[in-house]
Amino acid sequence: MFNKLIQWSKFQHHHLPWRKERTLYTTLVSEIMLQQTTVGTVLNHYQRFLKKYPSIAELALESEDNLTVAWKGLGYYRRARNLKKACEQIVEHHSGKIPLDYSKLIKINGIGEYTANALLAIGADKKTLAIDANLERVLSRIYGLTSLKGKKLQDEIKDKFQKGIICSEIENYSARDFNEALMDLGREFCKANRVYCELCPMGDNCKAKLSGEPLSLPIKEKEKKIEKYFELKLLRVITLNEGKLLSYKKKKNEWLSGQYEVPTFIISSEDQELTQYPASTLNLEHDLLPMLKTGITKYRIANYLLFVSQKELENLGFKLKAYEWIELNEQSNFSTTTFKALDFFGIKK
Ligand code: SF4
Repeated sequence: MFNKLIQWSKFQHHHLPWRKERTLYTTLVSEIMLQQTTVGTVLNHYQRFLKKYPSIAELALESEDNLTVAWKGLGYYRRARNLKKACEQIVEHHSGKIPLDYSKLIKINGIGEYTANALLAIGADKKTLAIDANLERVLSRIYGLTSLKGKKLQDEIKDKFQKGIICSEIENYSARDFNEALMDLGREFCKANRVYCELCPMGDNCKAKLSGEPLSLPIKEKEKKIEKYFELKLLRVITLNEGKLLSYKKKKNEWLSGQYEVPTFIISSEDQELTQYPASTLNLEHDLLPMLKTGITKYRIANYLLFVSQKELENLGFKLKAYEWIELNEQSNFSTTTFKALDFFGIKK
């Protein structure tokens, strides 16, 4: 039943760098990167990251600030901190070697249930399932599982797998190939809101397809109200002086800690509790400035860009003391929005 799927997956995806050269460490890195991030984005960063941190020990020794910079572009920075935590503990408690024991893996800070199973199944080829939202979805559709999406469905999958009711065919294949094929299926044919059943290698064996309503599974709790997004207007001040940019390093507990950002002020915020930046006191017609849209967590941000000379800035009563002049050729430490703002004005290092 899984033959076609596994053949297709191996043929289509054998070139992915984390599948070509695999160790437990590269599996740890790639699995954490791939959580909440597309394959395309990970492809842009994976090899560079591994070149910089070729081993668990090297990653464990890195400062959190530098790691944040190296993670730039992948988003969800908490994952980078978890990865570092996990590496530190592997060095400290397991002599730098990832243990191949679920009960030991799950005790490592930064390694959750999914990552532990992914290390066992994908990294070590052990007969287990790494159940993430993708696997949860495709297995509920293939086998017609009707538990509520989330913990209940995951428990049903685990229980039926342990009893050999579902996925017993894993015994005939490499567990690695089996898990990766299901993940690929979820990414390409069997998506959350769209299915391509006519093209799908599981089409002949899928209960959801046979029901004629493949999208009815997995069963979801009644849609919760959409989380509220806050509109946020920020003023970003871009000032250059002899090849240096006025900027400051984000502190611990601030958004993008460790990265450099240009002076930034809140023009207006729907979230009155937001304390990430000071309020703008500059007397400006903000709406006349060029604007870039970005977003972070629950904030939709309109970034108004003010490009001024140091002299003009001083005339506006701006206090320069709180900032640093950073060489433009140290651009790798700047935040993505700072890059975009520089790019907007055609400023290159
Ligand atoms: S046949 Fe359709 S519903 Fe079933 S696994 Fe394939 S894409 Fe998903």
